[in-house]
Amino acid sequence: MGGAIPPFFIYEVKMRNIEKEILLETYRPWVKKLGQWHLADDDGKTRCGKPMLGNNYAKYIPENERTECPDCFK
Ligand SMILES: [Zn+2]
Repeated sequence: MGGAIPPFFIYEVKMRNIEKEILLETYRPWVKKLGQWHLADDDGKTRCGKPMLGNNYAKYIPENERTECPDCFK
């Protein structure tokens, strides 16, 4: 292995980052106590349809300690 990253891989990662940035700009984070990271709209609903119960820990749990909800981030 030469360690070179194939160009298509970089492209994929860039695309994913852009999509994620758009999601993060469009929705606000709804983070559960255990770090599960959902995306919510202004109507108080998450993208995945989970009820927004309890407190939002977005202020307290940094992004690198959260677990992205697969349905909110797809
Ligand atoms: Zn979710």
